[in-house]
Amino acid sequence: QVQVERFPYDVVVIGAGGAGLRAAIEAREQGKRTAIVSKSLFGKAHTVMAEGGCAASMGNVNAKDNWQVHFRDTMRGGKFLNNWRMAELHAKEAPDRVWELETYGALFDRTKDGKISQRNFGGHTYPRLAHVGDRTGLEMIRTMQQKIVSLQQEDFEEYGDYEAMLKVFPECTVTELIKDNDRIAGAFAYWRDSGKFILFETPAIVLATGGIGKSFKVTSNSWEYTGDGHALALRAGATLINMEFVQFHPTGMVWPPSVKGILVTEGVRGDGGVLKNSTGERFMFGYIPDVFKGQYAETEQEADGWYNDQDNHRRTPDLLPRDEVARAINTEVKEGRGSPHGGVFLDIASRLPAEEIRRRLPSMYHQFKELADVDITAQPMEVGPTCHYVMGGVEVDPDTASSVVPGLFAAGEVAGGMHGSNRLGGNSLSDLIVFGRRAGLGAAQYLDSLDQRPKISESDVDAAAHRAVAPFDWPSEGQAENPYTIHAELQQSMNDLVGIIRKEEEVQQALDKLAELKERARFVAVEGRREFNPGWHLCLDLRNMLLVSECVAKAALMRTESRGGHTRDDYPAMDNRWRNKLLVCSSDEHGTSAEVVEKPQEPMRSDLLELFELAELEKYFTDEELAQHPGRVA
Ligand code: FAD
Repeated sequence: QVQVERFPYDVVVIGAGGAGLRAAIEAREQGKRTAIVSKSLFGKAHTVMAEGGCAASMGNVNAKDNWQVHFRDTMRGGKFLNNWRMAELHAKEAPDRVWELETYGALFDRTKDGKISQRNFGGHTYPRLAHVGDRTGLEMIRTMQQKIVSLQQEDFEEYGDYEAMLKVFPECTVTELIKDNDRIAGAFAYWRDSGKFILFETPAIVLATGGIGKSFKVTSNSWEYTGDGHALALRAGATLINMEFVQFHPTGMVWPPSVKGILVTEGVRGDGGVLKNSTGERFMFGYIPDVFKGQYAETEQEADGWYNDQDNHRRTPDLLPRDEVARAINTEVKEGRGSPHGGVFLDIASRLPAEEIRRRLPSMYHQFKELADVDITAQPMEVGPTCHYVMGGVEVDPDTASSVVPGLFAAGEVAGGMHGSNRLGGNSLSDLIVFGRRAGLGAAQYLDSLDQRPKISESDVDAAAHRAVAPFDWPSEGQAENPYTIHAELQQSMNDLVGIIRKEEEVQQALDKLAELKERARFVAVEGRREFNPGWHLCLDLRNMLLVSECVAKAALMRTESRGGHTRDDYPAMDNRWRNKLLVCSSDEHGTSAEVVEKPQEPMRSDLLELFELAELEKYFTDEELAQHPGRVA
């Protein structure tokens, strides 16, 4: 029998990014004994890397902003495939959640009259992103950690133990969720340093594990983003939606090769930077799609005027939603107008004084100076698309963040629906705090509704432990597979065959390759012991990456249209008949393979529908869907 340390909790939050921390704060404030489990060091999550800001319609820089405008922008950005209830809650609650962060001790940059300053970002009608220079995520995480410490100090006063009600388990990776019949009963994990096993006995789990970017070769994501939460949810019987929609951020570094994919914040364009091709042309004017015609500036003069006078100018097409800009860059490069290293130019040097660039974009200045020896105050940057964010995730109830599995909740990047087919920049940080709070609350309320705690069967724990140590059992001579080789092949296939532009034959090839990799992954084997063994950790992550990649590829094959973060070369147009269809992924408890089925979305509430002009809705909805619209009925 393998040794397993046991910890009973009311709520276990898996993930210590913005969503996880906000969920944990809420659960603890609701009086629940809460654990925060994090694969990486505490304080090191993607949220920390978020640069540009957090979208909330506070109206501090332009008083015309309000939740309705934010809601409309979000729906447009997601090409109307978003779960409208989530988009509504998000737009309504984001300002309060940002204010709340200041009550925890955050300090956002200020306007001249002392309000929280807000910056422009792609797809947002007004300056909307609350920010702290280009290090916004760092401030958010710092603040929430500080809030956690203050709650722990209160608990010390009451119980004589700082960790009585809220404890952090850093560098601890969850590999399995355990159920009692149909509902959640616990989570099985290992410590990164010792390799020893832990069992969390808990009726409620909040998944807040972030994204899946490490399945792609060129990515802004770091090592932890292997889709663990997505896969854990699938194996526990939950469903994933929108998995075909993967966001390729238009501006990642392209040079030198060792840093390819690292993010260049959209804040560069928000603050005046423009995209140019090798002929010096500001090419985005040629890429305004029909659905956005009339909403964006058509001349350089108008676009430049917009930065200072938004009432009399339309916004620059450099700030179209990310999917549009990424595709435009891809086309420029493909048609031979790229930069020397296969990207395009992003020029802020000729647009702002050097001192201003260093003040507004300190991290970008250092990033390019140190990693590429480029001085962005004097030279343009070279940039190109990089896999950045997954719109797809656990299908949740919008109000409570509950999945279809009783006791399993999800918030943040691991949850699906909110962003539809494409997320607007800045809408993730706000998503984390709005739905992190709701997930913590949902978990607490679920707990209150239980009359009995679930039980964990010992055979499930043994099975989880045996699966975890399987990579130490070497298969017969010649059969062993190296996890790093499989990972590299997976990343290359997803990048080349299910990347920014997709077509049937290539996605099919990717699925064939995934089937081969899955078979080979049964024989992954590692040397050494359980202490600090990254090869072993990768073996366990691979299982998740392969399952989640299969969801992405299968859904991408099924959706025969192009929309947001899913572009089909063989179906280049957006097809209104697909707008209301969700592709829902599920698997068996072993994650043997992913099933994908179609499901219609719930029609949008009529008061929300009426926030849009009929003419705009006609670009996205079918005639049948609009038959009852007041504009049509009249
Ligand atoms: P994360 O912050 O990704 O945290 C996930 C947590 O889960 C981590 O603690 C991780 O260790 C843990 N975890 C994962 N798997 C396991 C497991 N098996 N067991 C235990 N723990 C696990 N969005 C914006 O809105 N504005 C921006 O300006 C912005 N800039 C960005 C810049 C960069 C470089 C990147 C990469 C993203 C940016 N984003 C931005 C996106 C945004 O940062 C992320 O979508 C968001 O932070 C995700 O937060 P999260 O709480 O869902 O998860």
